[in-house]
Amino acid sequence: MSQTGSSGGQPGSQRTTDRESAPGEPTRAYAELVAGNRRFVDGAPRHPNQDAGHRAAVADGQHPFAVIVGCSDSRLAAEIIFDRGLGDLFVVRTAGHTAGPEVLGSVEYAVTVLGTPLVVVLGHDSCGAVQAARESAATGTAPSGHLRAVVDAVLPSLRRAEAQGVTDIDGIVDVHIAQTVETLIEQSPVLADQVARGRCAVVGMSYRLAAGAVRPVAAVPAGFASVDAPGGSPESTDPAAAAAV
Ligand SMILES: [Zn+2]
Repeated sequence: MSQTGSSGGQPGSQRTTDRESAPGEPTRAYAELVAGNRRFVDGAPRHPNQDAGHRAAVADGQHPFAVIVGCSDSRLAAEIIFDRGLGDLFVVRTAGHTAGPEVLGSVEYAVTVLGTPLVVVLGHDSCGAVQAARESAATGTAPSGHLRAVVDAVLPSLRRAEAQGVTDIDGIVDVHIAQTVETLIEQSPVLADQVARGRCAVVGMSYRLAAGAVRPVAAVPAGFASVDAPGGSPESTDPAAAAAV
């Protein structure tokens, strides 16, 4: 919100403000993402905000309507699967959508400085990072180099899945997505405060590689996108309480 964007009198900038892609609150932002994914799934993408005029118009400031904390998997390109363009999505990607300090800082920048109203944790079936963590846990061996940091960040989700009796890899992926949503809220009081004020929501979404479709897995506040909080407490709308589960 604090970034310049009105730039009075610039026809190019004026044109960008009538785009259908400026949802200013969480529900509208979520609906916009779901609509874009539906176009992608149906093979009818519009490729909005990718033309030269829009490129010039957003050069002076950005107002992305969603933060995507996604897996780095090459098949999970955010602007493609949500059918969006320049200036729409603030994307942070790591293998296995792990949420270390730089990721948290990037999310906080988008939510507080840019005023982005929605944070999406985006995981997917057949995730290699989750599979690597599963193999590491099964064999008792840690991978070499910095890959170990990725595996270590996923291991708590494996333990959580085990405690819930979830054993299939895609079920474990969904648990890991929910765990990442919870981690963001737990580790970032700044984000939790924005959620508590109703300025932002966090939703975990699971993507299917072959179908191209996303579906919500967990959200804070509970009930957003019609799904439970990560801890499964449907009546809780207090992110602090949800994070404590
Ligand atoms: Zn992955």
